[in-house]
Amino acid sequence: MGSLFYNLQEKNIKFVRVLWCDNANIIRAKSVHIGYLDDTLHVGVKIAKAQMGLPVMYDAVAPNAGLSPVGEVTLVPDPSTLKVLSFAKGQASMIGDMKSLGTLAPWPNCPRDYLKRQIERLANLGLELKSVFENEFYLLKKEEGGKIIKSDHTSFAMTSPLNVYDQMILDLEESMTSQGLEVESYYSESGPGQHEFNIKYSDALSSADNQITYRETVRAIASRHGLVASFMPKIFEDAGGNGTHLNFSLWREGKNISGDTSAENGITETASAFVAGVMHHLKALCAVTIPSTNSYRRVIPHFWAGAFVSWGYYNREAAIRVSKNGSQTAAQRFELKISDASANPYLALGALIACGIDGIEQEMTLPEETTIDPGYLDSSECMSRWVEPLPKSLGEALDYLKGDDTILSSMGEALAKSYVGVKEFEWDALKNATLEEEVEIMLEKF
Ligand code: GLU
Ligand code: MG
Repeated sequence: MGSLFYNLQEKNIKFVRVLWCDNANIIRAKSVHIGYLDDTLHVGVKIAKAQMGLPVMYDAVAPNAGLSPVGEVTLVPDPSTLKVLSFAKGQASMIGDMKSLGTLAPWPNCPRDYLKRQIERLANLGLELKSVFENEFYLLKKEEGGKIIKSDHTSFAMTSPLNVYDQMILDLEESMTSQGLEVESYYSESGPGQHEFNIKYSDALSSADNQITYRETVRAIASRHGLVASFMPKIFEDAGGNGTHLNFSLWREGKNISGDTSAENGITETASAFVAGVMHHLKALCAVTIPSTNSYRRVIPHFWAGAFVSWGYYNREAAIRVSKNGSQTAAQRFELKISDASANPYLALGALIACGIDGIEQEMTLPEETTIDPGYLDSSECMSRWVEPLPKSLGEALDYLKGDDTILSSMGEALAKSYVGVKEFEWDALKNATLEEEVEIMLEKF
């Protein structure tokens, strides 16, 4: 601890935020003063157990989450996630692990521990997942009186936003780089004021941690430039939604084993089985990877959101878009387009791995590749090509999740109960909400 303390003191850090991300995917923090950091590193900072029972709409515990206002757990900061925050003077942050008081054993509701458990299960099969969340977000303007409006009227890859937001882009790059995220590319996306800023893949746990850092940084830097950044899945009915595509590849002993040049579909048997598992459970997985009522406004055909249970090389209308290696001879990585930033990244990745493991254990095989836009198929053509539509609402996805023992048992009883409890509470409260009402609630949460 000594050197960590002195490093932070030298940088004039007064407060260290201990972050957590709840079932509703709201990132929250409690800050400790530098003078109490030593204690906090050992015993953590206490939060109410009920924190994991809060929905997106307001701070009230979901009645069926199995959590009450009585009882606390402790958030023990992981020093490997320490970041000095360029956007908040005198402040640093660390991501916390939720632990039981006294024993400091992982609390069964901890999303970060859930992901660690799935990574370990995969490691027991000799495999590792590398991943990255590929975020899209809108930059919006706030008018006097608080009304949020579009910041421009640009469309895909136009260059003017690169000029208009030059300083913001540089600040974003500087902040992400200083926090250890490797910036890869940046361009303006299809919607008016929509942007895509990409970072490099890493091991699965770091990629979920990076997603927390990423969201925090984009929102904070935008706000310093007088803008509101939002990752909300669908803000404007008639324009592109915000995807947070989950890119992944399978590795064994330090080598990417996703592709096989000699396989008919260019994918190794192991990776085929993993992806087949994801496809098999996809309708239930939706309740974890696209888990807000608003998510289902985004997942519609012809908006490149991957609205069908299907896979295809470079197919932007398939739920799983596959990219090839440099020589274009085999698969290199998979992109789950059915993922958005209303998903808790630890739960999304953990559930994806659990589905993939089921595919491997059950030796599932991939159906045929979808080589066309499935949005133009009628229902009988869909059936003959193994293409299936996804759930149309969070309620429908939750019904699939409640029947999916693979995902629920991977979570364990407590987390499955709190997660489903929170999401059902959200569905009950928001199933008839208009887009405007959702925007009011979610725009600044995600
Ligand atoms: N904005 C699209 C989505 O909602 C994705 C566009 C793209 O393929 O990058 O997922
Ligand atoms: Mg994009």
